[in-house]
Amino acid sequence: MKEIILLKSGELALKGLNRRNFEDLLMKNMRRRLKDLGSFKVTTAQSTFTVEPLEEGLDLDLAFERLSRVFGISALSRAAAVAKDINAIFEATGPYLADSLKAASTFKVEAKRADKNFPLKSPEICSQLGSKILQDFPHLKVDVRQPDLTINVEVRDKYAFIRGNQTKGAGGLPVGSSGRAALLISGGIDSPVAAWMMAKRGLELVAVHFASPPYTGPQAEAKVHDLLKKVAAYSGRIALFTIPFTKIQEEISKNCPQELFTVIMRRFMMKIAVEIAEKEDCKALITGESLAQVASQTIQALACTDDASTLPVFRPLIGMDKEDVIKISRKIETFDISIRPYEDCCTIFTPKRPRTRPVLKFVKAAESVLDIPALVVEALEGAQLMIIR
Ligand code: ATP
Ligand code: MG
Repeated sequence: MKEIILLKSGELALKGLNRRNFEDLLMKNMRRRLKDLGSFKVTTAQSTFTVEPLEEGLDLDLAFERLSRVFGISALSRAAAVAKDINAIFEATGPYLADSLKAASTFKVEAKRADKNFPLKSPEICSQLGSKILQDFPHLKVDVRQPDLTINVEVRDKYAFIRGNQTKGAGGLPVGSSGRAALLISGGIDSPVAAWMMAKRGLELVAVHFASPPYTGPQAEAKVHDLLKKVAAYSGRIALFTIPFTKIQEEISKNCPQELFTVIMRRFMMKIAVEIAEKEDCKALITGESLAQVASQTIQALACTDDASTLPVFRPLIGMDKEDVIKISRKIETFDISIRPYEDCCTIFTPKRPRTRPVLKFVKAAESVLDIPALVVEALEGAQLMIIR
């Protein structure tokens, strides 16, 4: 018996993007995610996507797991593809869904005929298959409202598909459908979660990380790579730019008031990220900032940070509690990586008493002693590119 994966898309029809483009993008993303697993055919018809293995012995478990992380998919399930013949459907259903049928107490059958030449109408398929199941699994009862198991039969052009309950998909919109944005990623808990949230809204990610060797070591960078790998399981490949940041931090530390160190440093981060964003065709920045979490995340500090960016800054965590952020980070498996103890560039120079309500004109005056354009250019020249997938 042939087994395939059936997928339903989520919020497709919106956004002035036409449905066709949207579906093509989603299929392209699925194909990319399956590429190294062997040969699969990905198609769509009647708002259902079908992933069919074209070789023997492909790892369908792994394919399913990968597809369950593709944004734009609202639900998915494995299905048996059998001949379009009611007896073939009868014979296959019990054995194929045996585990679920044994575990369930109640069930119902749903049927759909895309092929109107099929001799039985949908209600007839339901009642005949239902009776057969009741015979073979006498512990079961029919419940059409809230069954433990819904058996779904769809008669299509080539096959009839039989499936049990669907699994929830990753939801959101296909990555790329909203354009691209540059993510500022530290090694912390927040920024990978912010990345995941915005990729879910259809943004393709380019990542920017500021490293401060020798204050920060290769382990801090490895942490960022590992975090992005987890995010990339959802977002697809991510280009990571690692920027040398030590000189800028030392210059600020030497020449600017201690209590403004953080806000001036964050303005540099924004300026450099904007330069990379523009080269990479990104239309926004993404950070993991959350209101009042630390001194640099008060309204006044965020206003100073915003002023340094000519692009919109997306802060998806702005209104979230840490607890809820951690919940997501556990779900996407970044939490355990984020809590590895390596210092990131901010912890080292952080002043004891940062100004929590910085005033933009004083911040600008304080940083004006530095040659900002030259420092930005020098940092950009030291950028290292790596592709994470
Ligand atoms: P996170 O948990 O994401 O590190 P945080 O709560 O520690 O965030 P900050 O250190 O103030 O907060 O950083 C706020 C945001 O600034 C981060 O979420 C990230 O987007 C960005 N950021 C901080 N440090 C770096 C860095 N070294 N490289 C790139 N971006 C950074
Ligand atoms: Mg941090």
